[in-house]
Amino acid sequence: MPALFAEWVATADAVRATTKKLEKQAALARYLGRLDDDDLAIAARLFAGGPFSRADQRVLAVGWSALIDAIRERSGAHGDDIGASYQRHADLGDVAAELITTPPADPRPLALRDLAAAFDEIAGTRGSNAKRALVRALLARATGSEARYLAKIVGGDMRIGLRESLVEEAIAKAFGRDRESVARANMLGADVGETAVRAKAGTLEAAVFAHFAPIGMMLATPVLELTEVAKRFGPPYLVEDKYDGVRAQVHKAGGRVELFSRTLDRVTDRFPELVEPLRAIPGSFVLDAEVLAFRDGRAVPFTVFARRLGRKVVAADLRAELPATLVAFDILEHDGTPLLDRPLQERARLLRSLPLPPPLRVPDLRVIDLGPEELPAALDREFAASRGRGNEGLMVKDPRSPYRPGRRGMEWLKVKRPLRTLDVAVTAVEWGHGKRRGVLSDYTFAVRDEEGRLRNIGKAYSGLTDREIAEMTEHFLAHTVEDLGRVRIVVPDTVIEVAFDQLQPSDRHDSGLAMRFPRIVRLRPDKPVSEIDTLATARTLATKTGEGGSGSARPTELR
Ligand code: AMP
Repeated sequence: MPALFAEWVATADAVRATTKKLEKQAALARYLGRLDDDDLAIAARLFAGGPFSRADQRVLAVGWSALIDAIRERSGAHGDDIGASYQRHADLGDVAAELITTPPADPRPLALRDLAAAFDEIAGTRGSNAKRALVRALLARATGSEARYLAKIVGGDMRIGLRESLVEEAIAKAFGRDRESVARANMLGADVGETAVRAKAGTLEAAVFAHFAPIGMMLATPVLELTEVAKRFGPPYLVEDKYDGVRAQVHKAGGRVELFSRTLDRVTDRFPELVEPLRAIPGSFVLDAEVLAFRDGRAVPFTVFARRLGRKVVAADLRAELPATLVAFDILEHDGTPLLDRPLQERARLLRSLPLPPPLRVPDLRVIDLGPEELPAALDREFAASRGRGNEGLMVKDPRSPYRPGRRGMEWLKVKRPLRTLDVAVTAVEWGHGKRRGVLSDYTFAVRDEEGRLRNIGKAYSGLTDREIAEMTEHFLAHTVEDLGRVRIVVPDTVIEVAFDQLQPSDRHDSGLAMRFPRIVRLRPDKPVSEIDTLATARTLATKTGEGGSGSARPTELR
């Protein structure tokens, strides 16, 4: 007997009705535990919020207006009713549930398999009229409560207080597996449905890396003084230059090559010159890399290279002027074998056994096997040498460490330029004066606290170009949460890098800190807000820059 969608809906309602994680988890686990394989896969994917798995690159591509039309038709409501309901709920699913009060015209109850078949068909259909007809046919069979979730899934906005990690936990509970194994299989396979089936069958360990479904990138923790490195882990240390370009995760399989940005977007078309050289490397693989330009053997500064970024298609002259080089510093998969759990030292060796044609290369890897006494001086020399090559500083990595996707740990340490900077999110903007009249040029910005809340830490005049300021003005006008006249509270989705001379305790901002002489160094469109610097990092910087008065780099630090 195929499972009915109504039971899935009852479970989703139970999840939505409680804020308690354990209750959500128990409801999910009870439900998932009684499904057969096909239904289990579909149900788990739907709980994760999408019609398809992450590995599946199909999209429904049903427009907002098509969805509203379908709700209007099914409910018999007027445009005004829909508008008013949307004002109340700000969620199309809740609108559908409120307005659809009559039983479905088509009495055949929806099974999970019907949904899966309908999503396949919608994704495979071209033309908005044909898609509309399919969405209408689906809603014709749905009750109001079913329509709530159909609208959420089709509209791409699930929001029922359920994170994918909770679905993973429920799967682990339902089939008596450990959470880490479930999470690992889901991360590799990029399909929570397949993961659930594997958990049931006891084959989680056999999960393979799904190509072209990018995984979170491992992040580094900043080190403020060289003496700090030895406190993080013991020798030997793997040291590489820190290249100041853009992060890229490269996937190759079956002759296809794709590059993904740090926000996991496909950016292959931005670097067309890298595709053929990558394709020329035999086999399948996933690489972690930095893309930048070199001129006369030196790295071109990021601000210069940035000129060819930010456009979907790069003009030929910019490509000729700033040809991209890809520096691959890690390998995460090779010919079907996931390598995440292997120690870095082994991954680094494997990476260096691949034939990399130019403009692909690997960083020069130094092994420093020194104790805490001699280490800072050796790192200081390496730092200066890296800066001499036009690079930003150093990455110091633990050779024993696995690759931890999406995590910032102590196994990768970054030693940056002496200029103190923080990556922050813009929370409010203000109209400028004089030359900056008519543009939003003053930014207030925040770091993240332990609970992930934004805490303001400073305010600065924009140091951006006129064009950037004009563009950002438009962006902020469109993303204003509250217009207070001079000041606008904005959606905190813009990440900037700010430099400053000192951080001091102060009650001016709710972080309890304030910056002296803050300057906006650059926009960081490549960095999601979830990855901005933390209040904890800012506090450490405050103690460091506070002592010694001037706040300038001291001799033991990085020159
Ligand atoms: P940040 O963007 O300042 O948080 O520093 C971490 C970034 O450094 C990574 O996201 C990479 O884009 C970049 N990076 C440059 N060189 C390396 C390297 N050798 N190893 C790892 N990351 C690197």
